[in-house]
Amino acid sequence: MKIHEYQAKELFRKYNVPVPDGNAAFSVEEAKESAANLGGFPVVVKAQIHAGGRGKGGGVKLASSMEEVETLAGQILGMTLVTHQTGPEGKLVKKLLIEAGQKIEKELYLSLLVDRATASIVIMASRDGGMDIEEVAANTPERIIKVYIDPLMGIQGYQLRQVGFGLEIPPAAMKQFSQLLSNLYKFFIANDCSMVEINPLILTSDDKVLALDAKVDFDSNALYRHKDLMGLRDLDEEDPLEVEASKFNLNYINLDGNVGNIVNGAGLAMATMDIIKNAGATPANFMDVGGGATSEQVENAFRIILDDDKVKALLVNIFGGILRCDIFARGVVDAARKTGIDIPVVVRMEGTNVDEGKKILDDAGLNLTSAFDLSDAARKIAAAVN
Ligand code: GDP
Ligand code: MN
Repeated sequence: MKIHEYQAKELFRKYNVPVPDGNAAFSVEEAKESAANLGGFPVVVKAQIHAGGRGKGGGVKLASSMEEVETLAGQILGMTLVTHQTGPEGKLVKKLLIEAGQKIEKELYLSLLVDRATASIVIMASRDGGMDIEEVAANTPERIIKVYIDPLMGIQGYQLRQVGFGLEIPPAAMKQFSQLLSNLYKFFIANDCSMVEINPLILTSDDKVLALDAKVDFDSNALYRHKDLMGLRDLDEEDPLEVEASKFNLNYINLDGNVGNIVNGAGLAMATMDIIKNAGATPANFMDVGGGATSEQVENAFRIILDDDKVKALLVNIFGGILRCDIFARGVVDAARKTGIDIPVVVRMEGTNVDEGKKILDDAGLNLTSAFDLSDAARKIAAAVN
């Protein structure tokens, strides 16, 4: 689960990770109030969306007077901000962060993430912070320092110094930097984060270090341990179909192809997406209804995929194990009755009660094409869209 920069910075404050003074604002009036509370200029007006690259997209602006705060807040609130992370459709800005402007001496990059390959937490840092870190990673990867933390040992003093020296933190700021990094690590562990990224972490002309930006992603599977964090979820920032699917505990991810698919089991879903791709078509989604889906879940899975305008054909691939084929077939029939199916549907079904399931589908008189195995299913679905 991602959160906004302003929320991440409020959490950073609790963990003594220094950030500029500032407040969220949801209207131009509130933006002016927040600016007045900061007691000086320049003030930074920052769009709050769950995507990076806001600076380049025109969502981060400096204001040197109250009039400018008013103009900029008016411009940014309600704008559709397009960045390399939002996709071409962009994201509607509904919230701002109003912050005290900082005198930047140097922009650095600092992040923590879970590294699956080494089963540890990796700190990544670079002297080349700022807006083009993706290019640094692509062209000069040697300029990114990586330090691996054993989660059982925790972060060690020498590792804090390793990162600090690597970033060429001036001696006067080294102690403050070490505290910042050690507190950030505590924050990461205590909240089951999967990623924390500060870009830029700045050095000011008076040798202070501050997090000027804050991106935080929590491990959603651990959220049940953090009831306090759940309130930070912003459904406006999430895909509406994914939000709808999560209400029924469906594992659904919206993708950009045109072949919808409904599968039971995550591994089978991955394999099904692969065979769709292999057959020359592109999956429109990942949808795992789960091993023990109810017919209500199946019905909702159908409805969600059929609600998606880009879906031109639907492949259903069910292995009846815990989810019996007859239960599945009933869900399909109910969904078809309620929503109507107006695109080609190919069904490949095997396993427990398969004959009963097939009979239910046949008797319902729906316009479905059966496939006898996975490659036959892939061939038929590709033919339907191509
Ligand atoms: P992002 O583009 O979405 O990553 O947004 P950031 O929060 O990183 O802001 C983008 C850029 O705006 C930063 O890299 C800074 O160069 C600039 N910026 C943000 N806050 C300030 C500030 O207080 N003073 C100055 N001079 N520049 C700032
Ligand atoms: Mn940034």
